[in-house]
Amino acid sequence: MLKENLQKVEAKITASCERSGRRREDVTFIAVSKTKPIETLREAYDLGVRTFGENKVQELVDKYEALPKDISWHMIGHLQRNKVKYIIDKVDLIHSVDSIKLAETIDKEAKKHNLTANILIEVNVAKEPTKFGVLPDDLDAMIDEISRFSNIRVLGLMTIAPFVKNAEENRAIFARLRKLSVDIADKNIDNVNVGVLSMGMTNDYETAIEEGATIVRIGTGIFGERDYLHV
Ligand SMILES: *Cc1c(COP(=O)(O)O)cnc(C)c1O
Repeated sequence: MLKENLQKVEAKITASCERSGRRREDVTFIAVSKTKPIETLREAYDLGVRTFGENKVQELVDKYEALPKDISWHMIGHLQRNKVKYIIDKVDLIHSVDSIKLAETIDKEAKKHNLTANILIEVNVAKEPTKFGVLPDDLDAMIDEISRFSNIRVLGLMTIAPFVKNAEENRAIFARLRKLSVDIADKNIDNVNVGVLSMGMTNDYETAIEEGATIVRIGTGIFGERDYLHV
């Protein structure tokens, strides 16, 4: 099933790129493997998947230890400051930076390891009260602050769009995130690059690609439904 799912995802990404006049190589997907057992990740690895997304620190660390070292791990979930130290040298990209304080901790831990942490700023575009992320109105100020941290490199923006039946309902959200990134790019801030747009999940990644996503985060579409009872 994994193999067919991966082929389906690949075909849909390619078609979305064609529809919107984009190059296939400008869009990557991360396989969101949260709650899935290590054997399933290994199966995906054997099928060629090299980028996995996790949303819990302990789970990411356990999987990191168990699986080959050429995997690129992405932290996509809410990150507590006291847990940054466990993942700072294990992840290639943190998608979910939503406060200056969290960025400060990431900067500090990155310094200890003599590395530069790649991050995205999570934006709550839809202004959903239950979601994490900086509100669009506060984004500029946050980026200004974060750009001062020497061991952080801002690569772009991320959003988690609302759960909707019809992906079209999220088109405006994706377009808005892209617009925010264009506005920031126009400001040419040192240390800040906003070329990466992490947006779109199983239900809406094709729409997200049409609106400019460079990373889509796909869980269910690759691994099937998650069973939260057995985690
Ligand atoms: C779980 C999760 C996904 C993947 O969701 P699916 O609908 O299963 O594709 C993407 N992004 C984030 C931040 C997630 O937590």
